[in-house]
Amino acid sequence: MSVLDELPVVVVGAGPVGLAAAAHLHERGLPFLVLEAGDAAGAAVGQWGHVRVFSPWRYNIDPAARRLLDDAGWVAPDLEALPTGADLVADYLRPLAELPQLKPHLRYRARVEAISRLGFDRLRTAGREQAPFLIRLAGGEELLARAVIDASGTWGTPNVLGASGLPARGEKEAGAFLEHALPDVLGADRDSFAGRHTLVVGAGHSAANTLLSLAELATETPGTEVTWAIRSASPARTYGGGEADALPARGALGSRLRDHVDSGRVRLLTGFSVHALTPTDGRVAVVVRHVDGTNESITVDRIVAATGFRPDHAIAAELRLDLDPIMGATRALAPLIDPNEHSCGTVPPHGVDELAHPEPGYYAVGMKSYGRAPTFLMATGYEQVRSVVAALAGDWAAARDVQLDLPETGVCNSNPVDSTGSGGCCEPAPTTAAAGRGLATGISGGLLSAPLALVTLDAAGDGQTGGCCAG
Ligand SMILES: Cc1cc2nc3c(=O)[nH]c(=O)nc-3n(C[C@H](O)[C@H](O)[C@H](O)COP(=O)(O)OP(=O)(O)OC[C@H]3O[C@@H](n4cnc5c(N)ncnc54)[C@H](O)[C@@H]3O)c2cc1C
Repeated sequence: MSVLDELPVVVVGAGPVGLAAAAHLHERGLPFLVLEAGDAAGAAVGQWGHVRVFSPWRYNIDPAARRLLDDAGWVAPDLEALPTGADLVADYLRPLAELPQLKPHLRYRARVEAISRLGFDRLRTAGREQAPFLIRLAGGEELLARAVIDASGTWGTPNVLGASGLPARGEKEAGAFLEHALPDVLGADRDSFAGRHTLVVGAGHSAANTLLSLAELATETPGTEVTWAIRSASPARTYGGGEADALPARGALGSRLRDHVDSGRVRLLTGFSVHALTPTDGRVAVVVRHVDGTNESITVDRIVAATGFRPDHAIAAELRLDLDPIMGATRALAPLIDPNEHSCGTVPPHGVDELAHPEPGYYAVGMKSYGRAPTFLMATGYEQVRSVVAALAGDWAAARDVQLDLPETGVCNSNPVDSTGSGGCCEPAPTTAAAGRGLATGISGGLLSAPLALVTLDAAGDGQTGGCCAG
């Protein structure tokens, strides 16, 4: 028995995937410790608790977690229902974290700041594999581990507003005017938006959800103004194809948004590329720089940055990672999850082999494993951790027997009227015909005199996605 075998596997993050890893580690009889930055299990999910997810309960419960919960007499929710984030936490994640098999191995308010190998910087090779992982927490405490399963998600690292991927000028200084994606517009955050002018930046489903809530607020509270800014020339991708969309659920969400734009409740600005933010007299001016070098600006009270998320690989910077240069996932995984090719439901099964880095024993799993790709589903993460934990237990046959039984449709669908519908939020971009229809009817008179043909940064058409399954 080596010194490594006496150490726990450390899991970073007690979200759905980190907790699933803990359940599998328990079943495999491996010692483990889960380190969670927040105050409780599901801390990130709790922050979007007011949002209803796209996939029914059936796909949101890890099988190993379910076995433990069932043994404890847990009453499962209706497997066909679509929970909110708050339901996920209250009815699944918290009960799981409270189980006596897991609870003693969970530490809250334990933010991992950096991961390395004891006595080994990234350059040093000889004997590296035998060196324990060194985990440094915020506050300075250091722990040792035999392996690290990094399930820290991407919620804490949203994309910036600046169109080039760098923060817009003044973005940090204007922080008081900025909201993270998916604020609770009709609930806890209502006062921030009621009677104010809000600019929502982004073209994904996070943006669409927020715009629909703001439009509802505008009908209830006079003085509430809503402006939506996208980088591309057309909102077609967000609208989908309306009633003619091959993807009815997306069409329904998009159609509602299109109605608001057409009626003027939501003002749409296209070709909008954020250059700078300037606080001015209690409001904030958002400056757009056009390709010809001229500027225009719009002054608003609040900005919602629904521009997607990116993984924070900085905590593992001293480890040997091999990342796809575009996606920020492992090179083996990147082509399997490419949002230009795959929807949530068509990502092929994958496990320990696709998740391995040159650094033996370190695995990023869950939302983080997908890098910037928005095609992640909890069910995929559960199979990832089943495979990784089997490998850590030395059961390579089970580790490599990866299976994922996801329907291509009905799993990414947030519309209760069509929860078995023929499409989902994560399906590929609309057809040319649908896109053309969106272009013809979707653009209302905006700030910009003419929509600009800006450089398209991704094949899906905008590059400012708020995620797909990620809202
Ligand atoms: C609005 C929205 C809707 C979604 N809908 C669906 C859906 O319908 N179906 C679906 O399958 N998926 C959906 N997803 C995508 C995805 O499944 C969820 O985001 C899911 O929560 C990802 O689980 P995770 O465990 O990988 O990450 P998270 O849930 O983000 O958990 C990560 C945990 O790690 C903690 N953490 C972060 N950094 C550190 C650190 N340095 N040290 C210690 N702890 C840390 C966080 O506090 C957090 O608790 C949705 C996502 C969003 C945002």
